[in-house]
Amino acid sequence: MEVYGKTPQDARIARIAEERNIDRDTLRWLLATEDEDALFCLRKTARETADRAYGKRVFLRGLIEFTNYCRNDCYYCGIRRSSPCERYRLKEEQILSCCGAGYELGFRTFVLQGGEDAYFTDERLCGLVSAVKERWPDCALTLSVGERSRESYQALFDAGADRYLLRHETADAAHYGLLHPAEQSLAERKACLLHLKEIGYQVGCGFMVGSPGQTVDTLYADLQFIRQFNPHMVGIGPFIPQKDTPFGGEPAGTAEATIRLLSVIRLLLPKVLLPATTALGTIHPKGRQRGIRAGANVVMPNLSPMAVREKYRLYDNKAYTDAEAAECRDMLREEMREIGYEAVCARGDYRKEPETEEMI
Ligand code: SAH
Repeated sequence: MEVYGKTPQDARIARIAEERNIDRDTLRWLLATEDEDALFCLRKTARETADRAYGKRVFLRGLIEFTNYCRNDCYYCGIRRSSPCERYRLKEEQILSCCGAGYELGFRTFVLQGGEDAYFTDERLCGLVSAVKERWPDCALTLSVGERSRESYQALFDAGADRYLLRHETADAAHYGLLHPAEQSLAERKACLLHLKEIGYQVGCGFMVGSPGQTVDTLYADLQFIRQFNPHMVGIGPFIPQKDTPFGGEPAGTAEATIRLLSVIRLLLPKVLLPATTALGTIHPKGRQRGIRAGANVVMPNLSPMAVREKYRLYDNKAYTDAEAAECRDMLREEMREIGYEAVCARGDYRKEPETEEMI
């Protein structure tokens, strides 16, 4: 039966786009189906939605992994405090020189990511943020350093930080409890996200695909949380086991499920900044390209010094650990060009209004 010239499956996908919502059964169907025509329609609808919001542009963010010390003990993460990994912490001069090199390569967004490292008190981190913003006032600065107090988030914002990535990891409290020790809670995560948004950051939440214990129901909760929270950015990537963690023997998430969910998220939040993550590029050789073709519009090449890359091991077999920053950028540019997209270094802020040329 055809509805308005569409198959019932296509109509079901069109409804997600129109309502900017998805019901549990449709999610269940989209995660399980092998109907290639329906999946093609899902990706196409999502990609067209992204094109309408941001055009054929993919934003590059320079990622600097500046410390792998962490006070948390998340069961999935290779830099958890119980992990035997070798620790490092970049000095402020090293971080600034990564930014400088990134700036020369054209990057206009720097993402400073790290474990929850007590060395980085508000004073030290604010000092770092203002040093970056003083030298490169035309750049956006994104922080991804986990849970801090509201006062701390405010101080960092006042020091010049523009954006903050804090994945909620799962919106189901019981599932959150399965992924983290009892001292961490979903309520606290959500409170942090709310504070970040109230303060005025562009905020990113997100989750791993295929984490142990994840079900259609927990994913449904994730999507409803994302819809309600309405973040500026969403980071999702496959769970990849790291052998020294409690989940070292668990199966990895799949590129396929990640790509389907990227498309669904694009339909729920047409303007969201949505990376095709390193984890997706790790699990599948064409992962990042496939992510972009399914509606993602950000990639985050690594600007960290070569000497520490191997140590920032959230999961095993991380992609591109041996490519220099410039090489990394050029490879990504080429990957994007191959599929008809242009990798751009512009700040690429979240857009509330339809774009105009001078905003680019
Ligand atoms: N400490 C910071 C950022 C570092 S971890 C924070 O808490 O936000 C960044 C993200 O990597 C995490 O949010 C998690 O979703 C993801 N991650 C951690 N371990 C992973 C693994 N084994 N496989 C895939 N992604 C992982």
